Amino acid sequence: MPMPPIISKKAARAQGLKRYYTGVPCKHGHTADRRVSDSGCLGCKNQRERDRRKKSEHQSKELQRNQLYRTQLRHDVLSNYGGKCACPGCDIAEPRFLGIDHIEGGGRKHRKEIGSGPGLYVWLRNNDYPKDKFRLLCHNCNHSYGHYGFCAHGVSNGKV
Ligand SMILES: [Zn+2]
Ligand SMILES: [Zn+2]
Ligand SMILES: [Zn+2]
Repeated sequence: MPMPPIISKKAARAQGLKRYYTGVPCKHGHTADRRVSDSGCLGCKNQRERDRRKKSEHQSKELQRNQLYRTQLRHDVLSNYGGKCACPGCDIAEPRFLGIDHIEGGGRKHRKEIGSGPGLYVWLRNNDYPKDKFRLLCHNCNHSYGHYGFCAHGVSNGKV
């Protein structure tokens, strides 16, 4: 990199320049231009920007890995619970419509202990997918059970 000509801050300011150059490295060892406004080293500024970029790249990779892991985990849980709505008379098997239901309620307490979403899925996997306390329900059936204590499907089919 060609070295810029040495110019003091005062001289640079007098010439209306935004940068000056003393030839003296900053405390981080950059021999770079400095800003007239606050004497800030442009080498440091570039370094900060590089670091920020690296960090955000790292974070987005981490996020991707995380999402992949969650998708996989959710897939495992759903397939271990039969992959379809447990309600008689309902055959919703679309994963996006399905969720884990706490049989006999108790959901709130349990959720408090282990959290909902990914926390619950991790818990289920670690506990070998207990079928006595949990089942897979589509959101419709889940809602119906939650609000009325029975599913509209069961009623219309004469089964509960
Ligand atoms: Zn610097
Ligand atoms: Zn259903
Ligand atoms: Zn149902």
